[in-house]
Amino acid sequence: MLTDYHVHLRPDDEDTPPGRYFTPANADRYRAVAGERGIEELGVAEHVYRFSQALEVWDHPFWRPWAVDDLDDYCAFVRSDTDLRLGIEADFVPGREDRMANLLESREWDYVVGSVHFVSDMAVDLDDEWDIWRRGESPERVWKRYFEWVAEAARTGMYDIMAHPDLIKVHGSARPRPEGDLRRYYEPAVEAFLDAGVAVEMSTAGLRKPVGELYPSRPFLELIAEAGCPVALSSDAHVPDQLGFRYDDAVQALADVGITELAVYDRRERRMEPIG
Ligand SMILES: [Zn+2]
Ligand SMILES: [Zn+2]
Repeated sequence: MLTDYHVHLRPDDEDTPPGRYFTPANADRYRAVAGERGIEELGVAEHVYRFSQALEVWDHPFWRPWAVDDLDDYCAFVRSDTDLRLGIEADFVPGREDRMANLLESREWDYVVGSVHFVSDMAVDLDDEWDIWRRGESPERVWKRYFEWVAEAARTGMYDIMAHPDLIKVHGSARPRPEGDLRRYYEPAVEAFLDAGVAVEMSTAGLRKPVGELYPSRPFLELIAEAGCPVALSSDAHVPDQLGFRYDDAVQALADVGITELAVYDRRERRMEPIG
């Protein structure tokens, strides 16, 4: 089986109203492309901050202009008008775990994808005034804090899958990277994944970004495989054509480290299925 779970039905642009994208016709477009690419298990995971309810969790100036759609309308659309799995990509916001847990627990997801896009109030993957690298902190400090947040996010137990676990590298050579063996950052994160029993995402999205690598990197993936953490496969597509993007590379990387099964979800119950 092949899965694509971390999928968005619309691009990350401001003018992407649900009336245009949360439609059976758009869902059919995704289903058709997934079918052509041999992806049977298809689900969506819209950003939590695109919904007004997210402001009850975190009223951050970055979220405010985005948080306009209704979360329950999204859930009802996916459940009633599509045959897609229902997921959500929910940011980790320390200190707001109870509020996020309330938002998540009051809806019936197939899975919850956990993401660290922000460390404190600075962004890991933006190239604007929120860019974490604008503070002039050392790469050692930035990476250490990012991976501490990833570990802490996993340990909340709120998530089924940890998304793009080394997103901090997204900008590639355009930002500094710590010297030496990077496993010192990965090891505590893997320990947290294992303790939490959470799955880790193999994401091909990094191949479309300046870094040009899979998330997680090979040494990180080796540690994940050694620890026996379940792995979920996704493209983080924002348009149908990105579904299953470069899955051959991902499947090969998984095979290289001896991973033969993927995590599959139904109403937050996980089972493992052979890859392929
Ligand atoms: Zn993300
Ligand atoms: Zn995403």
